[in-house]
Amino acid sequence: MGDKIAIAIDGPAGAGKSTIAKLIAERKGYIYVDTGAMYRAMALYFIEQGIGARDQDRISAAAPDVDVTLTYENGEQIVWLNGRNVNGLIRTEEVSKMASSSSTNGAVRKKLVELQQALARKESVVMDGRDIGTCVLPDADVKVYLTADSHVRAVRRYEELRAKGQDCDLDTIEKDIIDRDYQDMHRDISPLRQAEDAVLLDSSAMTAEEVAQAVIELCDRVREE
Ligand code: C5P
Repeated sequence: MGDKIAIAIDGPAGAGKSTIAKLIAERKGYIYVDTGAMYRAMALYFIEQGIGARDQDRISAAAPDVDVTLTYENGEQIVWLNGRNVNGLIRTEEVSKMASSSSTNGAVRKKLVELQQALARKESVVMDGRDIGTCVLPDADVKVYLTADSHVRAVRRYEELRAKGQDCDLDTIEKDIIDRDYQDMHRDISPLRQAEDAVLLDSSAMTAEEVAQAVIELCDRVREE
């Protein structure tokens, strides 16, 4: 990795990875890379092309046509899909489900993993996802596996959506989270799992600030070694 620092944060849906990764990136002056947003942008493309979630042949065939790039504006990551800013379109339940299905595809993963590795060669990064510590950045300086009880994660998501004025149902959210975790943990290629050298943090009873502080302490320890 040279003089670049890489922090890998993996874990199931809604564990607070992006909140924590953003806080750390801000305080450390590193780039925050939300890899889920990249899988979501590709998923949006497949939906727009009318490709079904289980149609792996069409997903593989379409993958080379998709250009996903990231830029940063005032610290905020912007995801571009074939030259279009899709930040406002990728956070729906439909895209979440498609992303979980299309991310099982080898062509999709290969393309995005290469892009993620290229970013980490250029900049110090805090990268969050499902396979960062196990596959994308196996030599990351700090690896964290961030989890929380599925009910706690569902309540957080529910409150987030309610705050945005969206109508939603807590039981449906919890079921969707459990289904997506199952699919992410049981796929053939780079399934979600804790890397052997990752530190496990359970955020069920911790505030975002407490989790961020714990990760920053891990980073500072690595810097002193
Ligand atoms: O993190 P987020 O919920 O935005 O990710 C959406 C989906 O993208 C996940 O459910 C997972 O299937 C996929 N993903 C992945 N590998 C990553 C990041 C996300 O497979 N590194």
